[in-house]
Amino acid sequence: MDVPRAGVVSTTERIRSAGLRVTQPRRAVYEALHSLGGHRSADELMSALRKRGEKLSRASVFNVLRVLSQHGLIMLTDAGPGRALYEAADEWHHHFVCRQCGEITDVPCAVGSKPCLDANLPGPGYIVDEAQVIFRGLCPTCSQPS
Ligand SMILES: [Zn+2]
Ligand SMILES: [Zn+2]
Repeated sequence: MDVPRAGVVSTTERIRSAGLRVTQPRRAVYEALHSLGGHRSADELMSALRKRGEKLSRASVFNVLRVLSQHGLIMLTDAGPGRALYEAADEWHHHFVCRQCGEITDVPCAVGSKPCLDANLPGPGYIVDEAQVIFRGLCPTCSQPS
């Protein structure tokens, strides 16, 4: 999907160009995530929203996160046990997660469009629209001999 870069285009336009109706919760969640930057847990996002004076229930925040990620405005990355992380992503990408310190690094997608892998599924009837790769290993800090 061709999502314009942040800064140039307003949140309203970004939400609209993803084919979504613009609502205050959607604007609030996207803007909070975008200004936080990086990969954030739902808890971090909730407290950022509270600081901004947004009174959204946990259920409605999760509902907005689901809709925004379905439409490619944000990315959900499963970085390990109990670590569902969200980010306002301008480009579809993958992630490297350090096994030792848990640091997350963005990895550009070599293919550039979804799904970037062929799935060897056990039969017909599956529709694959996304493949997100998590690379695991050691980051430069942790791979240094001490
Ligand atoms: Zn590390
Ligand atoms: Zn990322």
